[in-house]
Amino acid sequence: MKIAFIAHDRKKDEMVNFVTAYEHVFQGHEMYSTGTTGQRIMEATSLNIHRFMSGPLGGDQQIGALVAQDKLDLIVFLRDPLMAQPHEPDISALLRLCDVYGIPVATNIATAEILVKAIDRGDFAWRDLMQKYKPGIEE
Ligand code: PGA
Repeated sequence: MKIAFIAHDRKKDEMVNFVTAYEHVFQGHEMYSTGTTGQRIMEATSLNIHRFMSGPLGGDQQIGALVAQDKLDLIVFLRDPLMAQPHEPDISALLRLCDVYGIPVATNIATAEILVKAIDRGDFAWRDLMQKYKPGIEE
C-alpha cells in the first residue's frame, strides 16, 4: 500500500508516537510525507519514507498530485484545528482531492488508529482489487 503522512507542527509529536507504535504495521509499505514530518518519523523509527517539500512550501500539493494520479491508498494527516496555517488553500485542495478520488484520510488520531488497524487486518485489499479492474487513468 501507498501511505502518506502529514502533521502540523503541534501534532508532530503525536504523529511520531503513532507511527512508532505501529511501525510493524507500516513496515513494507511504500510511504510518503511532507518534509519535516517525514524527517521526524525517520529519526524515531527505521522506516524509509519518501519526503516531499515541507507543507507550507508545496508538500501538500505534491501529495495531492499523487492522489490525482491514483498513486496513494491512504493519508494520515494530523491537522492542528486550533492554529491558522499559511497554506490553508493547499490543505483544502488536498482534502478535496481525497474526496474526489475516494481516498481514506485520517485527520485526527482517533481515525488514524482505526485505519491502521484496518491495514493490519487487510481491510484495504479492496484498493488492490479496484486498481486491478479499473480502466486506465490518463496521465
Ligand atoms: P512539514 O509540513 O511536515 O514539512 O512540517 C507539514 C505541514 O505543516 O503542513
